[in-house]
Formats: sequence, structure tokens, C-alpha cells
Amino acid sequence: MMRVLIATRRTNGDVANDVDYCVAGELLMIGEYCDCCRIDPGSCGCGIAFSGLNSHRMTTTAIVAEVALSEAEVREAIRSSLRAGGWFDADEPELAEQMVAEAWQRIQHVATHFEVGTVLGRRLDVVYEREVPASRP
Ligand SMILES: [Zn+2]
Repeated sequence: MMRVLIATRRTNGDVANDVDYCVAGELLMIGEYCDCCRIDPGSCGCGIAFSGLNSHRMTTTAIVAEVALSEAEVREAIRSSLRAGGWFDADEPELAEQMVAEAWQRIQHVATHFEVGTVLGRRLDVVYEREVPASRP
């Protein structure tokens, strides 16, 4: 079992600039954000959103979940997503692996910091709690 971030509709729409173009339940990563969002988070959306590994689209709500995948499988999901998104240079396999490792590290850091069931939002490099797990009073 691995703790990961998946797309959720919970609380999505509660905040004015919420977007949800992902498939509920798909694996998410915390992608790089553009320069416009660095100045004005939410300018294009990438600075306040998580990106879906399958859909390559954005959502502003993620939930911490425990899934029946191995670490190798999660890494492979990230790898295929980055490859499909055209992030890899075929001549630089080490660089590609480094990107996978960094993306996985960001996910893991957040997914182990918050409890399973926590709904999360993002503002640039900060991921914050939007809703506590139902199990917590
Ligand atoms: Zn942006």
C-alpha cells in the first residue's frame, strides 16, 4: 500500500477559482508552475492546481489516499505521464529519472505529512488542508 494524492470533487467549487478537469480518483502530482503564476498564483491555474497523471489536466482539490500499488508502480505512472506529456528528452535518460524521482518525492512528502482522507489545496510550493478527514472530530 502506498500513500498518494488522488483527484477528488470534495470541496471543489467552494473557492472562486476552483477548477476540476481531472477524473475523480486518478493519481495526481504537484507539477511545476509557470512564471505568470509565480507572480499571480492562479493566473493560468497551474500554481493552484494538481495535475492528473492520466488526463494531463488540472484540479484544485486532491485527497490523501492509500492505494494498492507498489512504489515501482507509482513511479511508473509518473514516468509514463511525464513521457506522454513530452517532458522527457530521449538523449537524457538520467535527467528523466531525476524528474520522476523529484515528482515522486513531492507527492510522498505531502501524502505522508497529512492524514489519509485529508482534502488538500495548493498555492505554489505550499500544500494546505482544505478539509479534515471525516474520521477526525
Ligand atoms: Zn500557471
